[in-house]
Amino acid sequence: MVLAGQNPASEVYVRNKIKTVGESGCRAELFRLDGSASLSEALALVHTLNADDAIDGILVQSPLPEGMGADAEQRVFDAIDPAKDVDGFHPFNVGLLVQKRPALVACTPLGCIELLEREGITMKGKHAVVIGRSDIVGKPMAMLLLHRDATVTICHSRTVGLPAIARTADILVAAIGRPGFVTADFIKPGATVVDVGINTLTAKADVERIFEEGSRKRAVFAEKGTVLVGDVHPGVEAVAGAVTPVPGGVGPLTVAMVLRNTVTAAELRATRKAAM
Ligand code: NAP
Repeated sequence: MVLAGQNPASEVYVRNKIKTVGESGCRAELFRLDGSASLSEALALVHTLNADDAIDGILVQSPLPEGMGADAEQRVFDAIDPAKDVDGFHPFNVGLLVQKRPALVACTPLGCIELLEREGITMKGKHAVVIGRSDIVGKPMAMLLLHRDATVTICHSRTVGLPAIARTADILVAAIGRPGFVTADFIKPGATVVDVGINTLTAKADVERIFEEGSRKRAVFAEKGTVLVGDVHPGVEAVAGAVTPVPGGVGPLTVAMVLRNTVTAAELRATRKAAM
C-alpha cells in the first residue's frame, strides 16, 4: 500500500486495510511518500514495487497530494503492473471486465455483487439502476450487473427525471456522494437498495434534516459531533425490500474484496510463472 501525504481519512482507510490484510495471513506493507513528493517519485516507487517479485498486489491510496498535478492518479494507476492491480483500476483490467473476462475488478462494485449474491437477490432479468458513473464505482457496477443478466440503466447528474427512473428499479445502487439523496419517492416497493455512499455529517442542521428525533444516529452525532450517512435517506427503509446499512454494509465488503483480489493476483502470477 502506498500512502502519499497525511489525509486523515486516507490514514483511517489504509490502517483498516493493513489490519484486515494482516489478520488474513497476507503480508501487508505500507510505503509512505511525503505530502511534498513529486509525481516522478510516486511513479518511481510504483516501478520498484512492480519489479519486486515478493509483492502480489499494489494499492495506491487516493487522493494523491494536489502538488502532483491534476492527472497524477491516472498516471500512477496506469503505471501499476496490471497483474498486481488489486484495485482493478488499470485500463487493461477495465477492458477485460468490459469483455466479460474479469480478472482483477474494482473492489467496491465487486463487494456489492457479493452482497447481492449472498443475500439471494436475483439479478437475472431484473431492472438495475445505478446512480453514479465514476470509473471506480458506477461504471464497473453497471458492467457487473449486466454480466449477471440484469437490464441496466446508468444515471448521473445530468439525468432528467431521476426519481421516476429510479422507481422502475428492482435493484437500485446509489454511488453519488450526497448524504440522504435517495429518498422514499425514488423507490419501487420491495426493491433492493445498495447504498455505496459514505458521507460524514458535521452540521446539526443536516443531521436533523435526515434523521428523526430520538434516532440512534442523532445520539451518535450528539456524542461525537459527526455521524456517517450513506446516499440513501433512512425513510427508504419503509418502502424498500432490503437496504444496506452505512456504515457496516458495502464498506467492509470492499475491504474483503481487496483481500480476494490479492489472492487472485497471487494465484494468477503463480500460474503464469509456472507456465514460463
Ligand atoms: P464520484 O466520482 O464523485 O461520482 C459521483 C457520481 O454521482 C457521478 O457520476 C455524478 O454524476 C453522480 N452525481 C452527483 N450528483 C448527482 C445528482 N445530483 N444526481 C445524480 N447523480 C449525481 O464518487 P464515487 O467515487 O463514485 O463515490 C460515490 C460515493 O461512494 C461517495 O460517497 C464515496 O465516498 C462512496 N464510496 C464508498 C466506497 C465504499 O467502500 N463503501 C468506495 C468508494 C466510494 P456526474 O458524472 O454527472 O458528475
